[in-house]
Amino acid sequence: MSEIYPSELSTDDLLPTSSRFAVASVNGAVGKGVRAKIGFERGTLVARFTGILSNRVLQHTLQVSPDTHLHDPYFVGMMTHSCSPNCVLDMHRLEIWSLSDVAPGELLTIDYAVTEDVLFRQFPCHCGSSRCRKWITGRRERINEAGLAYLAGLASRKVRSIASRTRWGAR
Ligand SMILES: [Zn+2]
Repeated sequence: MSEIYPSELSTDDLLPTSSRFAVASVNGAVGKGVRAKIGFERGTLVARFTGILSNRVLQHTLQVSPDTHLHDPYFVGMMTHSCSPNCVLDMHRLEIWSLSDVAPGELLTIDYAVTEDVLFRQFPCHCGSSRCRKWITGRRERINEAGLAYLAGLASRKVRSIASRTRWGAR
């Protein structure tokens, strides 16, 4: 049974194994993600994670403290974002906990703004949640120019579709 982490990082029995998780491509837009191969009930410890501490924000880091980031390009750094995630990270204990029941085969998701002050890269979100913020930033940064343009584009499309429905309804 192969492990998710390389052997030098696999020092803890509660670290993820490939019998329980798969880091695999999700689709063209999202890239890779972490899927559970087994189910987890809401409110359970899903896995521990590990990595290398860094003072820089990288694509696969998670923030531990204002100046410390854990670089894990193998597992937790590969988790995808959702505005209604099924998991939450405890960055002190380095644990993943489930916020809802997770079915076998389901993607494990987290809300990036919960741990990150500033993201490596802001991005548009298509998570499908009714609470989707549409553009994702860290919790302590403003929406950048690209995000403002993207959100303005979404808003104008919405106005146009309401206007076209109204015209149709008036006929
Ligand atoms: Zn979203």
